[in-house]
Amino acid sequence: MRQSRMFIPTMRETPQDAESLSHRLMLKAGMIKQMASGIYTYLPITKLVLNNIEQIVREEMNAVGGVEIHMPVLHPKELWQESGRWDAYGRELMRIQDRHDRDFALGPTHEEMITALLRDELKSYKKLPLTLFQIQTKFRDELRPRFGLLRGREFIMKDAYSFHSDEASLDETYNDMYNAYSKIFSRVALNYRAVEADSGAIGGSHTHEFMALADIGEDTIVYTQGSNYAANIEKAACPAPESIEINSSEKVGKIETPNVSTCAALAEHMGISIEETTKTMIMRIGNDYAMILLRGDHELNDIKVKSYFKTDDVDFATDEEIRNLLNADPGSLGPVNTDLPVYLDYQVRNMQDYPTGANESGYHFINVNHERDFEVEDYDDFRFITEGEMVQDGSGPAKFMKGIEVGQVFKLGTKYSDSMNLNVLDENGRSVPVLMGCYGIGISRTLSAIVESHSDDRGIIWPKSVTPFDIHVITANPKDAEAVKIAEELYESLSSRYRVLYDDRKERAGVKFADSDLIGLPYRVVIGRGAKEGKVEVKARNSEDSMDLAIDDVLQYLE
Ligand code: ATP
Ligand code: MG
Ligand code: MG
Ligand code: MG
Repeated sequence: MRQSRMFIPTMRETPQDAESLSHRLMLKAGMIKQMASGIYTYLPITKLVLNNIEQIVREEMNAVGGVEIHMPVLHPKELWQESGRWDAYGRELMRIQDRHDRDFALGPTHEEMITALLRDELKSYKKLPLTLFQIQTKFRDELRPRFGLLRGREFIMKDAYSFHSDEASLDETYNDMYNAYSKIFSRVALNYRAVEADSGAIGGSHTHEFMALADIGEDTIVYTQGSNYAANIEKAACPAPESIEINSSEKVGKIETPNVSTCAALAEHMGISIEETTKTMIMRIGNDYAMILLRGDHELNDIKVKSYFKTDDVDFATDEEIRNLLNADPGSLGPVNTDLPVYLDYQVRNMQDYPTGANESGYHFINVNHERDFEVEDYDDFRFITEGEMVQDGSGPAKFMKGIEVGQVFKLGTKYSDSMNLNVLDENGRSVPVLMGCYGIGISRTLSAIVESHSDDRGIIWPKSVTPFDIHVITANPKDAEAVKIAEELYESLSSRYRVLYDDRKERAGVKFADSDLIGLPYRVVIGRGAKEGKVEVKARNSEDSMDLAIDDVLQYLE
């Protein structure tokens, strides 16, 4: 590919508004262009790398029996109502209407779509197990899009879904996927760790996240030296007690509590703002509403449940107001404590369909601002593990590191089969719900994670497995006709074996070298003054040393 025909708008200046290394590098290397917050055009270099990552993902999905499909971006509201997530997903779900005023979601994930597909097509257990996957654009109206492609509002995900008639089969595919993910992240040269994760709002029994280790990561990994223990802090440190005493309220008394990360995940799904200020959730537990204070350290994963409380100095909602808000059948709600604080500037959504934690059904969140609306009494049993404390499995004192969640594997069980009626006939002709697993990889996030961990102060250093081109051929002086001729010939001959980017631009050598380092291809071949003597300069991007080689030896050297 001739660079004069490419579109690689590199920057000389370091972009000031970029908040992470990969974001900065990708802007500087002319890889992405922001069109709106969290929404990017992938420029040619990015597109080539995405293709390579997708190809690796496809190969490993196929290797474990995954079959590729392509589902719509537009999801009819009715399907999301069936699963309960039209309301429960909250503000992260992007919604639009067609010309007939019908509601649609822009798919943030595809459990509803695939369950609807399979319930129409799948009749017998004999068709199982089945694993389908797609690579597709997803939409999530993230509270705070940031770090370039690491947290976008429109991004590319590989999502796979597996279907089973028994647990053993689900276990087997889960393990296959776990291993496939390990291969994928090794192949794309990420330093990663698989960690136990909390199943949070999605429910289900078993889940792991794949974390690319990086300081910029938004997740905290708890691990111990010399053991296999590694868990997301949300999972590691939330030993949800059976019940807790509510500090200041004799009215509510003892209540059961879901675990902390469930709250966090629910809050995230609700789209509740938990940045900047500390927020609370109101949950309906049994017949009571209880408040939980989330102390956010500007990050979802730093949420700590600090206390339960009640307060007198905020607006009160009546039973009726709460019921209206929840849009629920009054009979199903039971008595409500009217003197619990409710601050009504946040939309309340019905959480009826989240079968999580210690709660049976029906918990609801209302946003309240700490300090403005109430006082707090600390309840110190609820906190995340701190560094040095013994971890849950007793394998040693907790150590922390930061990770970027690049993938997650999940045993869903029958959550969607139950709510959306995905059943098959078993051997005895009985109708049974299908067991499901789901498995996601952030393709565009993975790309950013690779850049985050493969660079030096001059630019990106692409791992060979995903590099957009293998070799950068550069004419040092475009006015030197003889050298240009040699460069053209070398470009032609290398192109038969390699993907070559040929910098034929009429630019100064210094500009070309700076761009070349920024773009970061594994090898650079410079055709300069030595060309007349049949010599070119070859340099590997990850080495400081270059060498002069006879033109005829270049191919051999690159082998
Ligand atoms: P996070 O905790 O970072 O918000 P998630 O747990 O909500 O991610 P999943 O629902 O597990 O994400 O989606 C599967 C994968 O999609 C994630 O592991 C991640 O790699 C990717 N992903 C999720 N949200 C984004 C986003 N906003 N931008 C880019 N990639 C994303
Ligand atoms: Mg998320
Ligand atoms: Mg997550
Ligand atoms: Mg996840």
